[in-house]
Amino acid sequence: MASDLQQNPFEEVNHVFDQASERLGLSSGISEMLRRPWRELQVQVPVRMDSGDIEIFTGYRVQHNGARGPYKGGVRYHPKADLDEVRALASLMTWKTALVGVPFGGAKGGVQVDPSNLSTGELNRLTRRYTLNIEHLIGPYRDIPAPDLGTDSQTMAWMMDAYGQLHGHSPAVVTGKPIEMRGSLGRESATGQGVTYIAAEAVHGSGKELSDVRVVIQGFGNVGYWTSQLMHRQGAIVIGISDVHGAIYNPSGLDMDAVAKHQSESGKISDFPQADQLSNSDLLELECDILVPAAIDNVITRANASNIKAKLLLEAANHPVTPAADEILSDMGVTVLPDILVNSGGVIVSYFEWTQNLQEFSWEESRVNEELHKTIIHAYKEVMNKVSTDSISHRQAAFEIGLQRVAHVAQLRGFV
Ligand code: NAD
Repeated sequence: MASDLQQNPFEEVNHVFDQASERLGLSSGISEMLRRPWRELQVQVPVRMDSGDIEIFTGYRVQHNGARGPYKGGVRYHPKADLDEVRALASLMTWKTALVGVPFGGAKGGVQVDPSNLSTGELNRLTRRYTLNIEHLIGPYRDIPAPDLGTDSQTMAWMMDAYGQLHGHSPAVVTGKPIEMRGSLGRESATGQGVTYIAAEAVHGSGKELSDVRVVIQGFGNVGYWTSQLMHRQGAIVIGISDVHGAIYNPSGLDMDAVAKHQSESGKISDFPQADQLSNSDLLELECDILVPAAIDNVITRANASNIKAKLLLEAANHPVTPAADEILSDMGVTVLPDILVNSGGVIVSYFEWTQNLQEFSWEESRVNEELHKTIIHAYKEVMNKVSTDSISHRQAAFEIGLQRVAHVAQLRGFV
C-alpha cells in the first residue's frame, strides 16, 4: 500500500505521475524531464510592517512545464507554502491544463505567510515586492498567475499594477482580476461552478438529480462558498459546511443564503444558530452522498479514510486525499473524482479571461458559463471513457490523459 508521505506533497503527486508514466511506457529520460520542474525561483520578500519594523517572508514561483503554452497557476499565501508544496501544485497544474485542453503549461507560486495576520496595507506591500521579485519570470506570454488559497481578486489587482509599472498596462499578466480591471465575468464563481457541473453530471449518471443528494463541503472561501451556493441553488441539500474555525451541521439542510449572510456579518460560520457545531474532522465523516473537500490539502489520510461515508468524493481543493487514503477509499468503493478534473473550472475560465484580455473584448457571463460547461464536461467524459475501457481509477485516467498530451507536445517540439 502507498504510504502517507505527508511531509512531501511533491512526492505524493509523483506517486500518481510514476504510475501513469509507466502505464504509458514513457522512456526514463522523458519521464524524468516531465516529472521535474523546469524552473524554480525562491525569493526574499521584505515588507515594511505598519509598526515600522521590517519583516522578511519567503516566496516561490515554480514553473513545472511549459511545453503546451505559457506557464499558468495560482499564487498561495499560507504559512505552510514551502517549496515542495508549490512544486506539487505546479505539477498538478501541468496535468490539469493538458487534461482540460487549455493552451497553458503548469506553474504555481506561494509566499509563506498567514495573510489573516497582515493589514491591507501590509498585504499590498508584500504582494508588490513579491511581484517585483518574480517579475522577470512572468508576463502575458510567459507565466500568468491567478488567485489561490489566501489570495483573491484584490491580490491580482496589486500584482497587475506592480507589473504594469515596469511593463505598461498588461491586464493579461494575471487572471482572477476585479471585473473593473478587465477580469472576466464568471471567473470568481468558476471553480465552484465547475465543481457543480461535475456533480450534476455524476449524479445524472446514476439516474438522480442534484435535488436528491445530501452534500458536505469543507471550506467556505472562494471554492467552498461558490460550490455551496451553486449546489444549493440547484436543489442539493447542503447538510454540513466549515471554515478554518469549525463546522456546522443540519441534517435537514442548511439555508446557504442565511449561512453566507451570517458569515459576512460575524466573519465566521461556526456559530451559525440553526445548526449543530462540529469539528472539521467530524465534518468529513458525516453520512452524506457527496463529500467536497474545498479548503486545504492532505485532509483525508490513512487515519480517517475508512471513516468516510460519502459515496462520491469531489476533490475541489488541490490534493486533499493522500495516496494511502486513495487506496482505502477505492477498496471501500468510494468514487474519488480527482482535483485536476474537479477544480479545473478556475483555470478554464482563467483561459477565457486571458483570451478576452488579449482580444480587448468582453464576454457575457452566460457565454463564459456555457463554454465552461462544454469544456469541463468534455474532459469529464474523456476520463469516464478511459476508466471504463482501461479499468483504472479516475485519478489514473485523468493523469494519463494529461501526461500523454504533454509528452506528445514535448516530443513534437523536438527539444528532447
Ligand atoms: P480561500 O483562501 O478562498 O478559502 C479557503 C477556505 O478554507 C476558507 O474558508 C478557510 O477558512 C478554510 N480553511 C483554511 N484552513 C483550514 C483548515 N485547516 N481546515 C479547514 N478549513 C480551512 O481558498 P480557495 O481559493 O477557496 O482555495 C481552496 C482550495 O481550492 C485550495 O486547495 C486551492 O488550491 C483550490 N483551488 C482554488 C481555485 C480558485 O480558483 N480559487 C482553483 C482551483 C483549486
